[in-house]
Amino acid sequence: NCILELTDLEYHYPNGPKALESVSLRLMQGEKIALVGPNGAGKSTLLLMLNGMLRPDSGTVRFRGEPISYSRKALMNLRKQVGFVFQNPDHQIIAPTVFQDVAFGPVNLDYTEEETKTSVDEALMYVGLTEFGRRPPHNLSGGEKKKVAMAGVLAMNPDVLVFDEPTSALDPDSARSIMELLDELHHAGKSIIISTHDVELAYTWADRIVLMDQGKIILCSKPTDAFSDK
Ligand code: ADP
Ligand code: ADP
Repeated sequence: NCILELTDLEYHYPNGPKALESVSLRLMQGEKIALVGPNGAGKSTLLLMLNGMLRPDSGTVRFRGEPISYSRKALMNLRKQVGFVFQNPDHQIIAPTVFQDVAFGPVNLDYTEEETKTSVDEALMYVGLTEFGRRPPHNLSGGEKKKVAMAGVLAMNPDVLVFDEPTSALDPDSARSIMELLDELHHAGKSIIISTHDVELAYTWADRIVLMDQGKIILCSKPTDAFSDK
């Protein structure tokens, strides 16, 4: 019941540094993984491999046992199942109203108007923004924008959720509210992988903590083994 498997990934940004080196990792069905490590460690780069937004120079990304294909059609299919929420919601929020923004995925996937409305309404209800459909997203708070971006991903009902820094730049209440949502999603059966600077959050939330530094995974263990001093 391994959902995503990374094997020996190497990645070098064009004209940039080596960002991943010998990275192997498995995300199991229903698992919650937190990636931690300093800025520039390669966390975002690793996450971008999971739905094919970046393609490794070498190594293999498998989804449910099959190496992923990088054709346009295969990637569209993969992205329905592996939902990605960016660190900065402004990169993901593009439409003039919250409803249209959340509807972007379903419309792109050729849902009917009826199906689109149902999936958007459900997603907005899930994140607690039912009343926000007609509002322009740009003047919402940071936490609300993050939830709109989440709703946009949830509207496609993916099995796997990838969050790059879900709580960064949020006040403590908004951060807590986002983490409660992640817990609900986990209880609903989703497999979740996040990156975070917040080691305490990683420790309390994750089933497994993956520590990265300079493009490598240097530790991968249960929170109790990783950070307990006993
Ligand atoms: P983290 O998410 O842990 O902060 P990143 O995966 O963003 O780390 O970055 C890993 C390394 O790759 C860093 O040295 C970073 O500067 C570099 N990098 C990230 N994105 C790009 C890019 N688009 N072009 C060139 N270099 C990049
Ligand atoms: P994160 O912490 O998620 O990596 P950053 O603030 O480091 O976010 O990066 C923001 C954007 O800039 C990302 O799209 C990333 O790919 C890009 N980026 C990061 N480092 C570099 C770099 N050295 N050269 C070019 N682009 C970069």
